[in-house]
Amino acid sequence: MPHRLFCEVHDNDFAERAQSPDIGALYALYQSACHGGGLPALADFDIRTLQAYAPFLMRLEPTGAGSYSYAYYGVGIAAIADFDMTGKSTADFEGPLKAFFEETYARAAAEKKALFTVHRAIKANLVHTWERLVMPVRMESGTTAFIVYNRPRAFEQDFLRSLVNVLPDGIIALRTCRQNDGVPFDAQIISANPAAAVLLNRPLGDMEGHLLRSAGPVLSSESLWAAVLASIVERRKDTIEILVNTTDLPVYLRFQITPLFDGALLHMADITALKQANIVLEREQQQLRNEIFRQRHEGDVLRGLAHADPLTGALNRRGFFAAAEEWTDKHRQRTLVAMDIDCFKQVNDRYGHMVGDAAIQQAGAVLIDAAGQADGVAGRLGGDEFVCMLPLPLADAMTLIEQARVRISISPVPSPIGPIALTCSFGLAAWPRGTSIDEALRQADTALYAAKAAGRNQTRQSEARPAGALSRTLRSDRRR
Ligand code: GH3
Ligand code: MG
Repeated sequence: MPHRLFCEVHDNDFAERAQSPDIGALYALYQSACHGGGLPALADFDIRTLQAYAPFLMRLEPTGAGSYSYAYYGVGIAAIADFDMTGKSTADFEGPLKAFFEETYARAAAEKKALFTVHRAIKANLVHTWERLVMPVRMESGTTAFIVYNRPRAFEQDFLRSLVNVLPDGIIALRTCRQNDGVPFDAQIISANPAAAVLLNRPLGDMEGHLLRSAGPVLSSESLWAAVLASIVERRKDTIEILVNTTDLPVYLRFQITPLFDGALLHMADITALKQANIVLEREQQQLRNEIFRQRHEGDVLRGLAHADPLTGALNRRGFFAAAEEWTDKHRQRTLVAMDIDCFKQVNDRYGHMVGDAAIQQAGAVLIDAAGQADGVAGRLGGDEFVCMLPLPLADAMTLIEQARVRISISPVPSPIGPIALTCSFGLAAWPRGTSIDEALRQADTALYAAKAAGRNQTRQSEARPAGALSRTLRSDRRR
């Protein structure tokens, strides 16, 4: 059986299967012409004897090469098919159609019986499917010829119309209305399907004939006309969405507009469910973004807590060395500062730990402030020991730190027995970019001890050559 051609062949129940009642009637005549066996003679069963059916009858005779010539071709068939096969043969058809015709005739001849067939029309544009009653007859020469009743079973137009009628999407066909100068001013609804009427919530009969721009709610929307006009003038497809204002829930209709002859085809679908799903999806995405932001923020807060000294608000040891690592390749000129409160044990011993803590806070606050002025970073390494890194050359750092030292020395710390004086000693060292902080810290410490040894409450800078670029890595024990 040929491929890609819809076809059926049956050898029984013709009357029940056929669309046309003629087929059952004609088959009854054929059977009676068989005279209880053998094929009827062509002389007894020919077009002349079947005048009532003649417009849809054909007579085919074998040409000897597997094909069959059309000795007679009914005018009804020719009119509907829009071609006349009289004098031509099945060989004039092509591919699956030719094969299908020749196979059914060969089978009817071989089995010596009538066959009923249905097939999709390929050549005849107006017809969707044909039905045939193929009746073999005996010619005088003894060869088998065929009387064939061939009727359109369904018309293409009816088929398409029913397709459009059952389509769940709305279809509206428009014809352009033009002014005398040819400019479109409106479009007339020339056809609409039941789904369009349902989607627009109006009777089907109320739509055809109307001009689009005065066709009531939705259809008369200016945005729809603008899209239709663009589609007509520019011969291109367009899509717009329209929110239908109903008293209840919002309904979204999507119109796809396609140019069609001198007009356009509107294809409309209800996309409310899609829209709602999108809204839900967007809301969920927003919630997810918020949650991610919250978790990130919480992470930042926790990281901040892990890196902060709760007493002074400066960075703790871990935080300071983490910040120093970020500085590895930053700032061309840098200075490292070591600070230690002078004779702090005595403060604790004489005035108690509470006053000791207040002294640590006060000295720390001055250092944090000084570092902040220069975009530097201050940290408390433990006890009364502080460090600070400044993006400044050593000389500028000296000036800044001297000011801090003086500020501390002239700001007494309150205690239960009155204000007490507080001083700090400082050691400074250059910290060249790209070098390890450890060497700079060691040098700053040495300078600090020199300040202590020289009587405290003073600032010293390292005498040593600034650290070379040899040891670039931070020692991990510093970052504990
Ligand atoms: P120097 O001038 O040589 O630095 O003498 P100092 O007494 O300050 O000696 P040192 O710096 O070694 O003293 C540190 C003391 O700080 C020892 C410890 O009891 C005290 N300390 C450490 N942490 C804290 C703290 O958090 N609060 C208080 N109040 N005291 C602390
Ligand atoms: Mg001390």
